[in-house]
Amino acid sequence: KKRPTILVLGAGYGGLSTVVNLQKSLGVDDAEIILINKNDYHYESTWLHEAAAGTLKPEQVRYDISRVIKKDKVTFVKAEVQAIDVKAKLVTTSVGQQSYDYLVIGLGFEGETFGIPGLDKYALSIANVNAARQIREHIEYQFATWALEDVKADSRLTIIVGGAGFTGIEFLGELGDRIPELCEEFDVPADKVKVLCVEAAPMVLPGFDPELVEYAVRQLKSKGIEFSIGTPVVEATPEGVKLKKGDDEFEFIEAGTVVWAAGVRGNRLIEETGIENMRARVKVEKDLRAPGYDDVFIVGDCALMINEEINRPYPPTAQIAMQQGDMCANNLIALMKGQPTQTFVPDLKGSIASLGSDDAIGVAFGKKMTGKKASFMKKMVDNRALYLIGGAGLTFKKGKFDIL
Ligand code: FAD
Ligand code: NAD
Repeated sequence: KKRPTILVLGAGYGGLSTVVNLQKSLGVDDAEIILINKNDYHYESTWLHEAAAGTLKPEQVRYDISRVIKKDKVTFVKAEVQAIDVKAKLVTTSVGQQSYDYLVIGLGFEGETFGIPGLDKYALSIANVNAARQIREHIEYQFATWALEDVKADSRLTIIVGGAGFTGIEFLGELGDRIPELCEEFDVPADKVKVLCVEAAPMVLPGFDPELVEYAVRQLKSKGIEFSIGTPVVEATPEGVKLKKGDDEFEFIEAGTVVWAAGVRGNRLIEETGIENMRARVKVEKDLRAPGYDDVFIVGDCALMINEEINRPYPPTAQIAMQQGDMCANNLIALMKGQPTQTFVPDLKGSIASLGSDDAIGVAFGKKMTGKKASFMKKMVDNRALYLIGGAGLTFKKGKFDIL
């Protein structure tokens, strides 16, 4: 009897934890497992703000996929997925086509620009490891150029961060650490640099605990970061961004760097599959399968699930993506054995946002925390993700042990 082919697209938290769990439970003869990813490495999306600010090198936030897969059980293919045909059960990639019996889509997130003019072209996005590298290099280039110019354009030293969600806030925290280093390195006086966070909602981190938000804003302001709240970005140009300040009132801010961190969507390939979706996220069935396609599972940021207690979608997080990977592997095994699949219920342990290398805010296991304690917890969470996918060896090699 031919082994069924399980094809997993994307080696982010969702795809890779599916594969790692499958290889633990399945024997070589049970299934052919194929993993396709654009790069031969996995990157920690949750550390990208550090790579973008330059507080971690891009190499430190990624590791080779070969470190975590068992080669006798999993075939890894480095390729870009170009199209997914769920009717013909065929995936087209940059190196050819691959058919499947079961498909797992874990192609992750992209930055959402909501159609705001100019953002696609003139803003940078913390979307993947190379995009993060581009942000770091772009900021360094602006500092280096300013230092050499005869007629100095101070707006080169203005960095605008669009969105004060978790991504924006964590990136600002890293900039707070990094800017003094850049000033020193590039001979730039600190008072010439302006870092401004622009948020559309009337508060920073909308919906998060107000006391923790207040702490975060205070800490970031003490590092020189400015905030403009209740002022959506409505346009970006090569010179900067336009903010809406009132009904008919606008302000243009010149900036050499604009980083757009105002929300995410699923991978655009989803939109061409014919599977019903909202902003490239598929409202999955309780067992993580795509509606109408019994052989297609969707995990991570391409999947959408409603939290029925509040009737709103669960946020797209690594925490949930990894738990979905576990459940997806279990449900695939159940299907192959002809057993019933299980319902996925997220087990939310809390959320912590870093504010630079030794400060953070968060709620974990129902407790609020700030400062070094919260920062310690955040690093433990970061290490745990490494441990769950790659075990102790990977954690010691790549983990964060500069704790306290
Ligand atoms: P991803 O991690 O996006 O991985 C997708 C994978 O698919 C990548 O390897 C990519 O290279 C690959 N891929 C994409 N397109 C193709 C293609 N066409 N062909 C082949 N391969 C492709 N969540 C938390 O829970 N805690 C946090 O602390 C946290 N911090 C964050 C910090 C930042 C700066 C950001 C941006 C996000 C953070 N998140 C956090 C959210 C979290 O990173 C995402 O929810 C998570 O990465 C989603 O995992 P995923 O597996 O769906 O996709
Ligand atoms: P988000 O959607 O959580 O926040 C985006 C912010 O941008 C919102 O505050 C929104 O009001 C604002 N915004 C939208 N349009 C705007 C406009 N035109 N002008 C100005 N501001 C605008 O997105 P995110 O921060 O990228 O987070 C994405 C997901 O990743 C979330 O689920 C988040 O929880 C998760 N994440 C978690 C962590 C963590 O746990 N430490 C860190 C980063 C991201």
